[in-house]
Amino acid sequence: MEINQFYIAGEFVAPNGKEKIDLINPATEEKVGHVLSGSEIDVNKAVNAAKKAFLAASSLSLEQKKTILQEIIDGMDERREEFAQIISQEMGAPIKVARGAQFSSGKVHFANTLKVIDNFNFSEVYDNITLNKLPIGPVGMITPWNWPLNQMCTKIASAIAAGTSFVLKPSEITPGAAHLFAEVVHKTSMPKGMFNLIHGYGATVGRAMSEHKDLEMISFTGSTRAGIDIQKTAADNIKRVSLELGGKSPNIILDDVDLEKAVLMGVKQCFFNTGQSCSSPTRMLVPESMLDDATKHAVAAAEAMSTGDPQNEEIFLGPISNKTQYEKVQTLIQEGIDEGAELACGGIGRPDRLERGFFVKPTVFTNVNNKMTVAQEEIFGPVICLIPYKDLDEAVEIANDSPYGLSSMISCRDEAKGHEIAKRIRTGQVIVNRQSRGEFPAPFGGFKMSGNGREHGLFGIDEYLEVQAVIN
Ligand code: NAD
Repeated sequence: MEINQFYIAGEFVAPNGKEKIDLINPATEEKVGHVLSGSEIDVNKAVNAAKKAFLAASSLSLEQKKTILQEIIDGMDERREEFAQIISQEMGAPIKVARGAQFSSGKVHFANTLKVIDNFNFSEVYDNITLNKLPIGPVGMITPWNWPLNQMCTKIASAIAAGTSFVLKPSEITPGAAHLFAEVVHKTSMPKGMFNLIHGYGATVGRAMSEHKDLEMISFTGSTRAGIDIQKTAADNIKRVSLELGGKSPNIILDDVDLEKAVLMGVKQCFFNTGQSCSSPTRMLVPESMLDDATKHAVAAAEAMSTGDPQNEEIFLGPISNKTQYEKVQTLIQEGIDEGAELACGGIGRPDRLERGFFVKPTVFTNVNNKMTVAQEEIFGPVICLIPYKDLDEAVEIANDSPYGLSSMISCRDEAKGHEIAKRIRTGQVIVNRQSRGEFPAPFGGFKMSGNGREHGLFGIDEYLEVQAVIN
């Protein structure tokens, strides 16, 4: 795919920036296209367009917003296969995952926003005070490569509902889904300039967005490293910064479970999307008396997973999305070995049959001490750590002993107990046995270094609003 145009003020335009960023298929390591990287001039043009369109965006009626959300759903549905193919090619998602979760997790945000928007109070009265919730003003959105549609769609759906204009810069590794999305938007009744799309590197284009005085907010999903940089840069003009960052999520397995089933589920959840999800349950906390059995089940689960060509419908694990990330995963696996974590299966290098591509062996470390690097740092690949605990207090202590606080799982038979434990866990989301996100758009976001924002549904809309008190 060759992306030579940005989408600004409702038109596909040639950018000022001319540098080509190669798009690499991580399964073959071959170049499959390029995207042009923008310059500061492109950022200014896009922000200007968003600024001009703010009045139209903020004047949309509830019905108009709902129409736009539905038009996007219909437009995405028509191009589902194109979205799936492009995501699979650019970041290596197995085609089944790309057609399924990768596509649906994006589209569902528009459907979920439609579900909740009628119940959202944009104005509330308390005695002599009227609280108006007004759109914040032009927003910059910066997104990563691991769930390319999901992350931009949750922001966009909420911003449409709030009635604000925005500029999106997706990851330079996966620009294709965003370009296709712009083609979908182009056919909707969205006011021109409400949605603007630019491409380029984080250090230049992303940085110019964080610095821009006419953006009132940056909504960012990505690494904690970049989140810190954005927050510092944006501080100079008091921008609101909403951050959705990394994670090192614990999965506490209680002693009342069907161990084989719980371990299988935990490994599957952890390795889904080739382990490249911020909320992956990468630390499996197991009662110490059950560690040997849990290790056996985890190895069986990992070894049963097929790794290979993402175009093959039977494949569960594709490649890691890019070379830098692949090398980081390899380094961290080696560190785990060096620090004395027991390697139960997997390890460094590619799986045996695969001679090229950024493929990683599904790897299980066991008897891991939570202080080890593999238990503290986000690995972002099919690597899981089994950590023994003595009693529940220790399990909670280990779960919370992390700089991150995005998500957690509690695998238990007694769900009431699971809910009690949840209150002691410092994460924005706690999944008690559930295997999918379900119908209701639960808020998503982190404690601690996992961020400060909340996305999805009603909470997502709030992110893009300012509260105004009118007093009489
Ligand atoms: P990344 O931070 O390198 O890049 C993310 C985006 O930020 C890209 O668009 C990039 O160009 C841009 N960027 C990078 N540096 C920037 C800077 N200094 N200023 C402005 N923009 C900058 O992250 P990645 O490698 O693309 O994605 C993986 C990370 O994203 C993981 O840490 C993962 O946990 C996190 N993530 C978090 C969530 C969540 O909701 N909490 C969801 C998915 C991924």
